[in-house]
Amino acid sequence: MKGKVYNWLTFNHINRCLLCLGSAAGIAECICTPCLEELPWLGTACRQCALPLPNADQLCGHCQLLPPAFNQVVAPFRYAFPLDSLIPAFKHQHKLTYGRLLARLLCQAIVHHHEEHEQALPDLIIPLPLHRARQAQRGYNQALELARPIARRLGVTLDRSILLRQRATAAQQGLDAQARRQNMQGAFVCQHPQRLKGKHVALVDDVVTTGTTVNEASRTLLAAGAASVSIWCVARTP
Ligand SMILES: [Zn+2]
Ligand SMILES: [Zn+2]
Repeated sequence: MKGKVYNWLTFNHINRCLLCLGSAAGIAECICTPCLEELPWLGTACRQCALPLPNADQLCGHCQLLPPAFNQVVAPFRYAFPLDSLIPAFKHQHKLTYGRLLARLLCQAIVHHHEEHEQALPDLIIPLPLHRARQAQRGYNQALELARPIARRLGVTLDRSILLRQRATAAQQGLDAQARRQNMQGAFVCQHPQRLKGKHVALVDDVVTTGTTVNEASRTLLAAGAASVSIWCVARTP
């Protein structure tokens, strides 16, 4: 009985699809199969930054010209409907049920990716930090809300104190590539670098847009001694 109650509490106790409110009884993801199939799955993309591309296993022009510091981006989705409303609602309106759904979908994509490419899981999972003032204002860090259940599920250590955002940055929107890089320069700092030495790290964020932010965070982690950085995010902006 205890087990039954536990399942009922942790698995979709509302029995309704979070997207269409139709029946999703017994489905752990809180999303019905038709809604799941209609999500904007990423498909073929740049093998380094996950920019959508017509063919698989290629590098986009940006990555050929100016290779990013991170090894790869694992992202299940393109940033399109309905993720362009789910993610902002999760981020700005405290819709943590959406966050749990997104974390589950991201976790499945990570497991699938690592099996398909026969890659070992990372040593550490690090959520992309918000600046203290931003986090205080929002009340939580969406990247941490995604990273926490994934770390638990995969049995990988979550470390939220190594990487800090030392500087509040202006919004990246509307800036060109060079201004974006300048805006992010020195935004992050590592403490306890001894905990990073030789470690393979996965950095978690909700959406990767141009990659400037995760690239700067990756550079900081590598400079502090990390062996490699992968980016895990829910959606990639085309
Ligand atoms: Zn549905
Ligand atoms: Zn690329």
